[in-house]
Amino acid sequence: MKNNGLLLVISGPAGAGKGSVASELVKDENIRLSISATTRAPRGKEENGREYYFYERGQFEKMITENGFIEYAQYLENYYGTPKKPVDDWRKEGKDVILEIEVQGCGIVKKSVPDCISIFIMPPSMEILEKRLRGRGTETEENVQKRMKRAKEELALAENYDYVVVNDVLEDCVENVRAIITAEKLRTQRLSFNI
Ligand code: 5GP
Repeated sequence: MKNNGLLLVISGPAGAGKGSVASELVKDENIRLSISATTRAPRGKEENGREYYFYERGQFEKMITENGFIEYAQYLENYYGTPKKPVDDWRKEGKDVILEIEVQGCGIVKKSVPDCISIFIMPPSMEILEKRLRGRGTETEENVQKRMKRAKEELALAENYDYVVVNDVLEDCVENVRAIITAEKLRTQRLSFNI
């Protein structure tokens, strides 16, 4: 496993800016972003195979029974899961892979891939989080309320993560995550010495 790419799990409440952080990170050609499968309906300009693989419930459940996910979880009323194969293939090629997933999924990944690196993206405040969620313009009022409630539950779990990074100014947040990646690659147990 020594030359495999890193597995980075990025979580944080909806609206914390995980997606923006991940989009910046994948500008590095050694980093790949896993595309999850979900049973929720596409939002705004989302496209199948780009933001998510949009599955019917039956299709998703079939993939569960075929052991096709590294992890999956229910978030509000829908399933979300990380397809196993692309992640394994990229890591074998030496690419670092980002999973942008919620907190239950992170717990599952930590058990199956103990050397994964978990990063919690923290909003500067609940007020700013709510403003960002509303600013998307794609959420119903009911959904904003549900996501804010869920956000409070998720924030309470931030301390289970290896790192917590506040996303106030995006560039600073991305720079901090890059610093984590650099440091993790230098960990003694990940290095192989040929001297
Ligand atoms: P959204 O509906 O806003 O796209 O995503 C809702 C939540 O599901 C977010 O916290 C997002 O990170 C999480 N999520 C997206 N894909 C996955 C996945 O494959 N597994 C898990 N456990 N959570 C996911």
